[in-house]
Amino acid sequence: MMAILSCITTEHNLWVVVLAAIMCLSGSAVTLRLQPRSFSTKGTQKIGWQFLTAITAGCTIWSTHFIAMMGHQPTLNISFDPVLTIISLIIVVTGAYVGIALSGIKNNRIFHATGGAIFGLSIAAMHYTGMFAYKIVGLVEWNQFYILVSIGIAVIFSALSFTITAKNIEDNKHFLSALAALVTAIVGLHFTGMTAFKVSPLTVNVSEIDFLAKQALALSIAGVAVLILGTSISSYLIDRSLRTDSHAELRKMALHDSLTGLPNRTSFGEKLHQMIEEAKENKHKVAIICIDLNRFKEVNDSRGHSAGDQMLKILAGRMLSMTTEGEHVARLGGDEFAAIKSFNDEKELEAFCIRLQEVFDKPMLLTGLETIAGASIGLAQYPTVGTETELLVNNADLAMFHAKSNFLETICFYDEKIGNVVRERRHLADALQNAISEGGLSVNYQRQTSLIDGEICGYEALLRWNHPERGNIPPSDFIPIAEDNGLIITLGEWVLRQACSDAVSWLPMTKVAVNISAVQLMDPQLPRQIHQILIDTGLAPHRLELELTETAVIKDKTRSLHTIRQIKALGVGIALDDFGSGYSSLDTLRTFPFDKIKLDRTFIDGVKHDKQTKAIIRAVLALGRSLDIPVLAEGIETLEQMELLQAEGCNEGQGYLLGYPASLDELTAEAGESTITQSISNSETSSEKSSDQSKLLTAEQIRTTG
Ligand code: C2E
Ligand code: MG
Ligand code: MG
Repeated sequence: MMAILSCITTEHNLWVVVLAAIMCLSGSAVTLRLQPRSFSTKGTQKIGWQFLTAITAGCTIWSTHFIAMMGHQPTLNISFDPVLTIISLIIVVTGAYVGIALSGIKNNRIFHATGGAIFGLSIAAMHYTGMFAYKIVGLVEWNQFYILVSIGIAVIFSALSFTITAKNIEDNKHFLSALAALVTAIVGLHFTGMTAFKVSPLTVNVSEIDFLAKQALALSIAGVAVLILGTSISSYLIDRSLRTDSHAELRKMALHDSLTGLPNRTSFGEKLHQMIEEAKENKHKVAIICIDLNRFKEVNDSRGHSAGDQMLKILAGRMLSMTTEGEHVARLGGDEFAAIKSFNDEKELEAFCIRLQEVFDKPMLLTGLETIAGASIGLAQYPTVGTETELLVNNADLAMFHAKSNFLETICFYDEKIGNVVRERRHLADALQNAISEGGLSVNYQRQTSLIDGEICGYEALLRWNHPERGNIPPSDFIPIAEDNGLIITLGEWVLRQACSDAVSWLPMTKVAVNISAVQLMDPQLPRQIHQILIDTGLAPHRLELELTETAVIKDKTRSLHTIRQIKALGVGIALDDFGSGYSSLDTLRTFPFDKIKLDRTFIDGVKHDKQTKAIIRAVLALGRSLDIPVLAEGIETLEQMELLQAEGCNEGQGYLLGYPASLDELTAEAGESTITQSISNSETSSEKSSDQSKLLTAEQIRTTG
């Protein structure tokens, strides 16, 4: 060690040694910055990085050596063999490349260490080739021990440096340790190698000019090496900035929705968390708002996906432009949006809700048509209804569902009651899904009778759900749930198929009427589905009648008319159900080609005592006659009602008086009896028969009136 130190201090010009040291340190640092890129890349990129690293490392080692040699025994008259000098550069660059390439073949310590060792050997090979290029007039002695030690130092420390670098590519944590090892390998080899080299000069005292020339040469080598290092540093910096840019781009992509450019669900979650934490500190409130579009599916189905996309983009643009400080919006996916608003005063929140509603209620032009997106908005407040982000989002979601199923409320604020109602609906929705797959549903049939001759002219199919714990659940409870979550499509298809095949197998040659929900009517597949069911079951199309309510058909008149025409083209009839209970528009009757008007039972209820009701019934019946559309009165429960309707010229009737909804088995049993009694009476066998028998008449009484 002492010999090495004395070699450095006594045999070298110190400032040149310092220059060499700076060269070695900076070059090694650049090498170690570049090397990890050759580990983390592939293919030609990998080769490129390996080459650049090898050039940098080779030039660093080579220039360090030759700069140091310029300062070695400055008083001696020396020169260099040009061929050997160049060969020494080629050796170190090639050796460095082989070592770097080998260490990058596999992410394995043996490969890293072996690659490092080859790198170390190439430093030694360069050094001793360089020493042979060193021409001096004098006697040279070599100390084998120091030669071996110098090679050992180069090999061991290079292997160490490579292993450390390869292990810490991701975080570059132990950069300084790797740098220290590499510098030790280079400097250690050089000075130990120089300790092994003893020269007794035969001529001394070079001229001042030669001395300056050596220093100028040292500076030139350093200059060229700095240029090479500069190039490597630039490549590294360009690469790093490109990577930072693409990382920023990737992060943006990961946190934003690609269609609308709005923050996505992940970003929304992060923002919400941050805003709740701030609210906890600053003691203010936060509103979490979930938004679901009302007519997105409709637009997508009827005007194509690009119109749907355009709608989302327009809404996103509006949302972004209406937000101010403390307000954030996001697209959670599909037609679901969300917003966060931090506030102190309820008035601020109200104003925000009004702005938000405007976003969705303002008309927009889509495929040349003015369209209103409409949205159901659910809101949960921190800290009023929860302090945890997950719970708050869940509650806002429940409130949104409540708003969706409630026509009168577009914005709904979460509270315990709403939570229970929506949870119950969700529970029923799950149970209904199971009922569909496990056979918990059935269809009952209620007869439709001619009030002129008492003949049965059809049966209305009415869906029944027998819940395993709650017993029979009325359709008015579960149909809206099925409509909300889209289950109605599967459910509706099932009822249609069941009713058609029952009609073929049992029901006499009468019509079978099936209720069709508004959601089914908006499904462009409906006509095709009906056609397929008719083919599959073999039912004659004229025996099928679909019952549509006015609310369903006027939702999107153009589309409804198109669908209804397609269905009618199959030969299937269309009845207007519950007429009089909603809009009761004459325009609906004029626009749509109905085959039957079903007068809602609320009119029949008041027919006896209420003069106005009677007048309306009379008007509807007259309207039916003039439009040549038969009218069926629903909900006939008493003889008086029936007599009155008969007197007014009503064509058909349906109600408990004429027959309860009954299962196919019950109807079969009844048919057996009726062949004996020839009765058109209400079914004694029906499981749905009312307990209030007093209102109802006997079969004989009906027969008398009929
Ligand atoms: P709706 O189409 O108007 O069916 C007639 C409803 O009136 C049936 O109720 C029937 O049981 C009841 N009803 C019949 N006669 C009388 C009577 O004399 N007095 C009284 N008070 N009620 C009578 P239900 O079966 O509970 O069905 C209610 C509604 O649920 C139906 O009204 C229909 O809109 C819907 N619905 C039933 N089955 C289906 C179905 O398969 N699909 C769809 N989309 N809706 C269905
Ligand atoms: Mg009906
Ligand atoms: Mg009805």
